Amino acid sequence: MQGRYELLIENEEAMVALGGYLAEALGGKGIVFLHGDLGAGKTTFSRGVLRYLGHQGAVKSPTYTLVEPYEVNGHKVYHFDLYRLADPEELEFIGGRDYFNEVALCLVEWPSRGQGELPEADLDITFDYDLPGRKATIIAGTEAGKKALNKIRSLQEGG
Ligand code: ADP
Ligand code: MG
Repeated sequence: MQGRYELLIENEEAMVALGGYLAEALGGKGIVFLHGDLGAGKTTFSRGVLRYLGHQGAVKSPTYTLVEPYEVNGHKVYHFDLYRLADPEELEFIGGRDYFNEVALCLVEWPSRGQGELPEADLDITFDYDLPGRKATIIAGTEAGKKALNKIRSLQEGG
């Protein structure tokens, strides 16, 4: 079982699809870190995750609030964007730990801003520009993450 998967995501639609594969593969729960520069596709990917689970409305980066909670078809999803976190310890004030302890799917944009205060991720994804598309590098950090990674690979390669 390999713990790393690198792939090209040609357009926005493929990014949304990849988010759906991740949601399916993780069974709607786990911790996922999303690295990448502004505009790399982290929020687009998150929208794909939420759409797959059944969320119909908009998905925006929760920049000022740091976290946006969703409850869709019995799944709890917490979408974080820690870009504006000045200090990792600020996570305490928004009750960061409580979110991660729940049976929930936590998607974390800019996890580097919360370094030292975040639990280990099941999957750690880095998006890079590979114009006109993007490149994704997915690394598994846990056993659950490894299983999910294999599933994502087979969903992605199965079309
Ligand atoms: P981030 O949250 O990383 O700042 P966004 O998800 O907001 O980035 O995406 C920024 C832009 O990149 C959006 O306009 C989106 O349509 C586009 N985009 C996302 N994924 C891809 C992709 N795989 N290929 C081309 N464009 C993409
Ligand atoms: Mg974003």
